[in-house]
Amino acid sequence: MNQIHPSRGATHLECSLTGERIESERLVGLSPAGKPLLARYDLASLRATFTREVVANRRADLWRYSEVLPVRDPAARIALGEGWTPLLDAPRVATRLGVRRVWIKEEGQNPTGSFKARGLCVAVSRALELGARELALPSAGNAGSAAAAYGASAGLPVHVVVPSDTPAPILEEIRALGADLQLLDGLITDCARVVRRGVEEHGWFDLSTLKEPYRIEGKKTMGYELVEQLNGRLPDAIVYPTGGGTGLIGMWKAFDEMEALDWIGPERPKMFTVQASGCAPIVRAWETGRTDAGMWEGAQTYASGLRVPSAVGDFLMLRVLRASRGGAVAVSDGAMAEWVGHLGADTGVFAAPEGGAAAAAVPLLLGRGMISADDEVVLFNTGSGLKYVGMVPLD
Ligand SMILES: *Cc1c(COP(=O)(O)O)cnc(C)c1O
Repeated sequence: MNQIHPSRGATHLECSLTGERIESERLVGLSPAGKPLLARYDLASLRATFTREVVANRRADLWRYSEVLPVRDPAARIALGEGWTPLLDAPRVATRLGVRRVWIKEEGQNPTGSFKARGLCVAVSRALELGARELALPSAGNAGSAAAAYGASAGLPVHVVVPSDTPAPILEEIRALGADLQLLDGLITDCARVVRRGVEEHGWFDLSTLKEPYRIEGKKTMGYELVEQLNGRLPDAIVYPTGGGTGLIGMWKAFDEMEALDWIGPERPKMFTVQASGCAPIVRAWETGRTDAGMWEGAQTYASGLRVPSAVGDFLMLRVLRASRGGAVAVSDGAMAEWVGHLGADTGVFAAPEGGAAAAAVPLLLGRGMISADDEVVLFNTGSGLKYVGMVPLD
């Protein structure tokens, strides 16, 4: 039952813009076109053996999906207990929101208190397997602590660059996990410049969102878990607090893979992006019908995971929103904080502001007719409220 299954499936990487095929057995970043690379698997040959029934009896972490993960050597698979988080039925939240059914995917239970653990677990494991010596990333906070944790477990040094106003608990966490932490007066996009210099000067391997191919592979496991936890069905709608978009793009990729594996049919949920009104590049692009988002100036929100003013995967997110007949809405920091309180009192989950944002979006989506009162909705609580103590806006 706890045996680890070999990854037979990974075949190559593919440019998400041009479709160009890239060899997958060495360390790579973006495609030659400067766009995210996506991992491809021989799903047809996995179909007979990688079934929902087989997976049902496996270990309770994301490595249960090892056939559709890139890490080949079981010894390189780092495990701190990531994934297989609860999907909580939340009838009082459903009543309060006025929809038929609500589930909360409780990602605050991951190692380091956020779903960033999933992506960095797989990315660090694969980087270790392919011979990376030193890791680095810019972060709004949670990716930094997750990278620090998996780097520590792998025995690889990690350099993290974050904005100086990142929540204090996250800074302490990154330091305690032994990473080299640099604070910068600026946003994650400014931190990225520092990392780029380290990559050029010291050969660090850059773990930035979607700038290497495997964080998204870790995040996609949320899609597999939803299907398993809902016994082979999908909800009508998924509401996802969106920064760099790995989870949104990753789950959509997982649905396509699961269709090819015969786990589900062609049905798909409506996918909704929620952002903060102080940093909403994807919402703005969605509302103006654009296919990419550009830069949001003066980004501001206490939901640090949503303070991402520009994203290399913008066009992929917008594609998912369109293809799923979903959409994008922005909510205020005050509304997030209010819904953190409602979620806590109605469910016993102390949500991150990003989780509050997912709930706060539902009345807006209902008001605009983008979801209906008859819908079954999954809200992602992407992190623990404990990481934001002292940051809550008072007005
Ligand atoms: C990073 C982060 C997000 C945004 O996730 P993406 O997949 O990058 O869009 C949401 N919530 C929290 C708590 C985060 O740390």
